[in-house]
Amino acid sequence: MYTKAQQQQFFELSKNFLKSEATALDYESLKNALIFHEWKYYVESQPLLSDFEYDQLYKQLETLEAANPKMMAPDSPTQRVSSDLTADFKSVDHLIPMLSLANSYNAEDLEDFDRQIRKLTLTEGDITYTVEPKYDGGSIALIYENDMLVRAATRGNGAQGDDITPNARAISAIPLKANFSKYGIYKVELRGEAIIEKNNFGKINDKREQQGLQLFANPRNAATGGLRTKDSSETRNRGLEAFIFQMGYAVDADGNDMFSQFSGHFEIINMLGDLGFKIPKAEKKKCSNIQEASEFCAYWQEQRDTYPYEIDGMVVKVDDLALQAKCGSTQHHPRWAIAYKFKAKQATTTLEDIEYQIGKIGSITPVAKLKPVQLAGVTVSSVSLHNEEFISGKDLRIGDTILVERAGDVIPYIVKSFPELRSGSEQEVVFPTACPSCNSTLIKQEGEAAWRCVNPSCTAQILQKLIFHVSKDAMNIDGFGKSYVERFYELGWIKDLSDIYNLDYDAIAQLDGFGAKSAKKVKDAIEHSKQNPIYRLLHSLSIHHLGKKASKIIAEHINHVLDLRQWSAEQLTGIKDIGPVVAENVVAYFAEDYNIEQLEKLESYGVNLSQTEADQPVQVADDAPLLGKTILFTGTLEQMSRKEAQALAVTAGAKNISAVSGNLNILVAGAKAGSKLKKAQAIGTVEIMTEAEFLELVS
Ligand SMILES: [Zn+2]
Repeated sequence: MYTKAQQQQFFELSKNFLKSEATALDYESLKNALIFHEWKYYVESQPLLSDFEYDQLYKQLETLEAANPKMMAPDSPTQRVSSDLTADFKSVDHLIPMLSLANSYNAEDLEDFDRQIRKLTLTEGDITYTVEPKYDGGSIALIYENDMLVRAATRGNGAQGDDITPNARAISAIPLKANFSKYGIYKVELRGEAIIEKNNFGKINDKREQQGLQLFANPRNAATGGLRTKDSSETRNRGLEAFIFQMGYAVDADGNDMFSQFSGHFEIINMLGDLGFKIPKAEKKKCSNIQEASEFCAYWQEQRDTYPYEIDGMVVKVDDLALQAKCGSTQHHPRWAIAYKFKAKQATTTLEDIEYQIGKIGSITPVAKLKPVQLAGVTVSSVSLHNEEFISGKDLRIGDTILVERAGDVIPYIVKSFPELRSGSEQEVVFPTACPSCNSTLIKQEGEAAWRCVNPSCTAQILQKLIFHVSKDAMNIDGFGKSYVERFYELGWIKDLSDIYNLDYDAIAQLDGFGAKSAKKVKDAIEHSKQNPIYRLLHSLSIHHLGKKASKIIAEHINHVLDLRQWSAEQLTGIKDIGPVVAENVVAYFAEDYNIEQLEKLESYGVNLSQTEADQPVQVADDAPLLGKTILFTGTLEQMSRKEAQALAVTAGAKNISAVSGNLNILVAGAKAGSKLKKAQAIGTVEIMTEAEFLELVS
């Protein structure tokens, strides 16, 4: 389109206009420079100017045109968006019908297609094919006459479409003027697809959400809607682009066919690229036989998610124009082209039942059980329905025919139901009022979407809590997954969190499918997890609303997990980024005796509950006075804070623990020491010392 020298020239020119404004004499150069930058930005996606600089030049052009209206060029970038709203779309005839394509789904289908082509064209050897993406947007047909864009239409019914010329002009990737005269072409019809980049689509929906507008379901809807909007500035705002991939009609001023100067389809598309149109590049290939074409299709089926635009397949076209003519067309589709459809991302199936799953904090999640269906290469048989509102919002009934979608790596979801297909036997969904596991009444807290079972001894919840506790996100006990938890739970070996750290590994080794080796593996993983930093433990407790991030923040403010018993909600909200909901739930958790007992048990089994050890490793000398000892401070210390004392103990090689048990080696009793001192005395094996004695020992 532009030579390197031309590009440099336009760039210099633009920089000059930015320094000293263009005059009326510069109008043509300024206009052409802006057309060049539109091409760099919208067709090549390689802008040379910042948005700000481009706007400066654009304003200069507007000013010149306002002062000299006679000068106005029809292909001026200022003429893309008209201020008038489009009236109803006029129906217009296509120069030649826009046919649809026959479909293929695999290599065998393509080989059948190739055999058919060779039969039709009486060809013995290989056929050359051009393969290009099948864009998932809105089809358009553009007519240029005497190098100017004169009409744009939607596909419509194939014979007639809607005249959307003002909106097409607003798409900067469509040149208002293109040098077809260079090829002796006077009138030409091009086919393409208006499309929105996937990235851009997300931004459009974000903006609509802020404005309270309905969100688009997918980029295609946003693109087709943008083509048919009555306000062409809206087409522009949506950032519509247009790929051109077919020349359907081309004649000279006398009406003579102008195709014969081109060898094939591939050459024509590159010619269009050279004239400034946006065309498929590396994603288009000229293949010397059907096997190569088939491989290229398969490659893009794998790569489709990495491509910036939605594509739902590839199109395989006979490249040679003479062979195309020999093949001809049926009433519905050309015989020389075929679509290679990627595995479907959407499918219809039946909603057979709804199950209710109980989460670790008792939330009830409805899960749709579907008649199994193939979706983008995966069998889908169950899909989350999120909550009660989702079900009523989509008007889902058991027995309904529904549309399921799976895009990229996204979890499948239900797009909609088809009420028009109901037979009358479908059942309305009655959301349960009692927990499916423990039968206690469900409650819904203000501002929350989910119904919850709040019974702390609900077995389904306990099991989910255990599964979460060992998971990667929480204590990350390697190799100790859901199935182990379920099995040990059923055996009655783990009833609560602390049981996980008190397993009988000999018994595990005797289990079916285990053995000494795997029992050892489980043991090693559990032992390893005991040294986790305390934020992991905090997170693993399934405290409602306490996520990983908040756990980390809180952990930074405490020395020991059980210190949280002393924290009030006000103190917690005093920490940056800790909100009142998290604070209240943390306080409520640490107010429960049962939870405290659990944590003390965990500590007695060796699970780390203190900050200093795991997060701020201290260099301890081999001859440290308290090496390997466990220590606990109780009562009021005179010469230092408890925090300082604990830090000193760590430096001396000791480990701070919070409960008095047989595992405790030293109890430092300050003034007014109470129950802990008594308990330690009762145990008998605990060494009890004063603050002064402790200081002397570690100094
Ligand atoms: Zn329950």
